[in-house]
Amino acid sequence: MTQITKVLVSKDQLQQRVRELGAEISRDYAGKELVLICILKGGAVFMSDLMREITFPVGIDYMSVSSYGASSTSSGVITIKKDIDMDIRGKHVLLVEDLIDTGLTLQHLKELFALREAASVRICTILSKPSRRLVDVPIDYSGIDIPDEFVVGYGLDYAEQFRNLPEVWIVETRD
Ligand code: 5GP
Ligand code: MG
Ligand code: MG
Repeated sequence: MTQITKVLVSKDQLQQRVRELGAEISRDYAGKELVLICILKGGAVFMSDLMREITFPVGIDYMSVSSYGASSTSSGVITIKKDIDMDIRGKHVLLVEDLIDTGLTLQHLKELFALREAASVRICTILSKPSRRLVDVPIDYSGIDIPDEFVVGYGLDYAEQFRNLPEVWIVETRD
């Protein structure tokens, strides 16, 4: 049995943190050509909120990678399911993620965009589970640290459900 049992991060907390991250990014990239690259599908909700908190025109693009499949543990292998359309050579890239867990996905993606000769590659995530990290990938803009619980909502799914919840909820699975 699967249940969502408790709100871990409220709508207000998310909104406030997104505003702060948007302000920080706006200051740091002022006068530069910035492209936000959303990691689908989980990053889509955060991406939509974040881009509207940035105070100058930015490019946006979307990418889909798989690392987890239906299971909730990391395989450490990344496959690109949908690539970006833009040529990002010489541009500043900011990867926009829903949650950083082991860090493996972002480590791979950071290397990929460096090979593609982006002017810089940084990482922005709304949620992070620091206790789960397997690789030491620097997170330039980190929203809210959470404990080692499986969560859904604000873009995150369990078997493709719950992405549309406005809060972040804890999932409990029992037999
Ligand atoms: P990482 O490569 O850092 O281990 O995690 C990559 C992705 O796994 C995250 O961006 C997220 O999409 C998914 N993931 C990790 N932890 C959770 C979780 O608690 N809930 C959900 N729904 N997805 C998760
Ligand atoms: Mg993700
Ligand atoms: Mg998922």
